[in-house]
Formats: sequence, structure tokens, C-alpha cells
Amino acid sequence: MRLGRIASPDGVAFVSIEGEGEERTAREIAEHPFGTPTFTGRSWPLADVRLLAPILASKVIAIGKNYAAHAAEMGSEAPDSPVIFLKPNTSIVGPGAPILLPPPSSEVHYEGELAVIIGRPCKDVPASKALDVVLGYTVANDVSARDHQRQDGQWTRAKGHDTFCPLGPWIETSLDPSDVEIRTEVDGEVKQRSRTSLLLHDIPDIIEWVSAVMTLLPGDVILTGTPEGVGPITSGQSVSVTVEGIGTLTNPVAAKK
Ligand code: MG
Repeated sequence: MRLGRIASPDGVAFVSIEGEGEERTAREIAEHPFGTPTFTGRSWPLADVRLLAPILASKVIAIGKNYAAHAAEMGSEAPDSPVIFLKPNTSIVGPGAPILLPPPSSEVHYEGELAVIIGRPCKDVPASKALDVVLGYTVANDVSARDHQRQDGQWTRAKGHDTFCPLGPWIETSLDPSDVEIRTEVDGEVKQRSRTSLLLHDIPDIIEWVSAVMTLLPGDVILTGTPEGVGPITSGQSVSVTVEGIGTLTNPVAAKK
């Protein structure tokens, strides 16, 4: 199932996105998409509504340096244990929403990533049971101000600006995420192309690690790390991240006024 969130003339709603291509429809879910969704009976052609970020997260947890080739391009070793950091939920935007470049930074980079969406409250989840707490998977861009990252020695400001966490276009609930292609394009030029099979810490291990630290709530997002090929984005460009089996998340880039 593909779960999304839309703005329609009637308001904001969670939906199931059904069909393919031009024929896609958004079928309204009553209340929320966790557990077994029920439907209101209303639906819209997807072309007539606007997709929002597919989930409301209480927090976004991200994994740093989870592909060896990206750790190497950043001039560091791949860590033995997952390195985690938080992005504020106010950094989340949906497909098509602009990534706003904050004036104090002159070096904002894209980072295409596979994102895990948590489906129920959980704590201390063993890796063997980790997939039981997953609602599904979406596409993310862990937008990062490299100059702020270097200046601060930690990542809260660099990764925390408003609009620095595009998510979407929807949550795919039936994906096997263990070996899918992840690709980032800037203005149609391929910049990152890798596979999730190269994750140093796989999704079950990440969920065990993170949930040993903090309670995870329905809708929480875990960004699994970016492969090699990160680079700058500038105002006027368009950045697209595609994860095989999910879809493509595209966002324009604009200077913050
Ligand atoms: Mg990242």
C-alpha cells in the first residue's frame, strides 16, 4: 500500500494512493494510517490534490556515515557503531516544496536517503523483531549545510534548518528495503547512485540501536544515511531523489528571502 498525505479543497487528509501514472487516485483514510486503515469513501484524482510530506513525525533520527564510500569522501572512517543525530520535525517539507537556502550558509548539500517510518510506539526492539515496528519506507533528502557542520563540530544547526528534510512522495508499506537502488539527480544529472545493500548498519540493526536509546512513536522517521556523491545545490536548481520500489522526491531549491 502507498500511504500519503494531501491537501485537497476539503482539507488535509491521509490517503491511500492507488493506480499508476495519470490514473492515480487518492482515497481518503479515516483518522490515521496506523494499524489497519479505514476509509471515508471520498477520493480524488491525484492530479487534483497536492501531496504533502507523508507523515507527521515527533522526531527525525538520522544515521551518519552509513555507507563506507560516503564516509571516505567526507575524509573519515566508517564508525563501528551507528552514529545518530536528530533533525527537528520542523525541517520536514513535502514533495515540490522548496528547499530554502539560509543566507548564513554558502555550502548546502543534498543527501539522498532511504527513510524508515515507524508504525507503533516501541522501545528496546531487538533486530530480529525490528521490521514489526515499521509502517513503511519513503524517500528523504537530508539537506546539510557543510560550512555549519564544520564550524559547529556537531550537526544540529547544519541539518536543522527549516525545509532541510524533504520527505515523500508517499510511504510504501510493502517494500523489501534490503537491496534497492538509491539515486540523486540535480537538474537531471545523476550525482549519487548506490544500493541499500551497501548500508554498513542495516535497518534492523539501526532500529535496535536507536530504540535502545529513545522511545519511538508512530510516524517517527529514521534516515538511513547517504551514499557517496554528495555535492552542492544552488538557488534555481531542482533535486530529485529516487528509491527503487518507492518513487521520486523532487524539490526546487530557492534562496531564503
Ligand atoms: Mg545524511
